[in-house]
Amino acid sequence: MFVLCTHHDPDIDGVGATLALSIYLKEKGYKVLTILENFPEYMQFLNGRENINSLSELRDSNNYTILALDCASKDRIWPKDIFDRAERIVNIDHHSDNTKFGNINVVNSFVSSTAELLYNLFKVNKSKLNLEICENIYSGILFDTGGFRYQNTNYETLIISSELLQKGVNASKIGEFVFNIWSESGFRALKTALKNLEYFGAGKILFSFISYKEIVEEDLKSEDFEGIVDILRSNRNARIIILLREIEKNVFKGSLRSKGEISINQVARKFNGGGHPHAAGFEIKYDNVNAIKDKLIKELLQLI
Ligand code: 5GP
Ligand code: MN
Repeated sequence: MFVLCTHHDPDIDGVGATLALSIYLKEKGYKVLTILENFPEYMQFLNGRENINSLSELRDSNNYTILALDCASKDRIWPKDIFDRAERIVNIDHHSDNTKFGNINVVNSFVSSTAELLYNLFKVNKSKLNLEICENIYSGILFDTGGFRYQNTNYETLIISSELLQKGVNASKIGEFVFNIWSESGFRALKTALKNLEYFGAGKILFSFISYKEIVEEDLKSEDFEGIVDILRSNRNARIIILLREIEKNVFKGSLRSKGEISINQVARKFNGGGHPHAAGFEIKYDNVNAIKDKLIKELLQLI
């Protein structure tokens, strides 16, 4: 049996690729469990939601093969105790800092997304892909490339995407779903992030912090923060963008973005996180907001 999973706090690439593979394997007649930490409302356009299984179904299983998608390391995988009864781990990912934690590692950091990597695997196997699978793969690529705008977009990415359109994917329909995700509470989160915005390094560093108090007062959920750092990124002068939020008292989640030659995953690593050169993040317990902010800004000023 296969157990398919992705990382904690999943995104459209992780979930799109996981559900695409889940649909494919089920059609082939394999026994599959698909386990996600959550499936936020804005992702519910993705195909295969009926394949998502509960944790109790996982607890009742053993001797399975884990197919981990979009996870750079073992400790990123959700749920953490998935390894207890696994026979084998297959690691399918595109992070350059992937720790090769699998028995089989299919890792390539030159592709835009795990979805693109999965498409390449299907292609070498001459697999027949239905429209549901194609839509999920296209969604993962579109999301991780920021709509083909980020540096992970290359010739291959666009060739593959055009092949997916040839197979029937509607680019404008998926584009709406992937990027026009804002709800009223999402806009409240954005308003708070803009209100708290600060500039450092002559405007090259943008920093915004949302406190736990504001999260409670404004009734904000984790998914309300999706896309905010990318809006801040659209500032013309910004080279480094940080969105920091306090997810519990003195527990901080940071989202970091950078442009051009600047890589920020090294900085994320110093805060127990990681990620791609231009898009990274962390989750860490820290004494207080001023301490983490000072340390972050000091590290980042050295990069510009
Ligand atoms: P985001 O800022 O959208 O949450 O995450 C951007 C990228 O940073 C993700 O694609 C992921 O690779 C990485 N990332 C985010 N949070 C963490 C974290 O807590 N640990 C690690 N290792 N990587 C993270
Ligand atoms: Mn990804």
